[in-house]
Amino acid sequence: MILPIYLYNHPVLRRRAQPVTSVNDEIISLAENMFETMRNANGIGLAANQVGQPHAMIVVDISDVEDGERTPPLCLLNPRIIAASEAMEEYEEGCLSVPGIREIVVRPAAVTVEYDDLELHHHRIEAESLLARVLQHETDHLSGVYFFERISPMRRALLKSKLKKLERGSGIECSYPFVHPLVQKITAP
Ligand code: ZN
Repeated sequence: MILPIYLYNHPVLRRRAQPVTSVNDEIISLAENMFETMRNANGIGLAANQVGQPHAMIVVDISDVEDGERTPPLCLLNPRIIAASEAMEEYEEGCLSVPGIREIVVRPAAVTVEYDDLELHHHRIEAESLLARVLQHETDHLSGVYFFERISPMRRALLKSKLKKLERGSGIECSYPFVHPLVQKITAP
């Protein structure tokens, strides 16, 4: 089932996610729905609060992106970045919750992430390049942080009017169902 994606500046996107301590049918179907929702919106990562859910849970699928083919789709519960490289990398990011805005963000080039899978088995992965990028962007969501809060104050000042416009809900162009505090489109076009 395709779920509507919550847009900036919905309060749910500022809430810190709750740890997942048991996996029931609700969590399993949320994972399936998040994959479907992400693919429908041509995204490569999605956090549970982006579909209005409080769980510390993200899905990632970079298998359609160049050089990402060998990375299988991942559902991560309770993801935590436990180490990051000193080497930094620039990459242009966008966000399904912030349509129409893309910015170059500088982040560590590689990260080590711990998480639980849907059977609550613990894992640790070393990620680099695009996978590291998506994992950092999505774990930020679980702490209520947007990617544009990782850019320089000067560049952020230039974004101000665009963000205000998005906050007011004017001129939102989304190919996918969304929830906005002021305007709603909960069905696909
Ligand atoms: Zn995002």
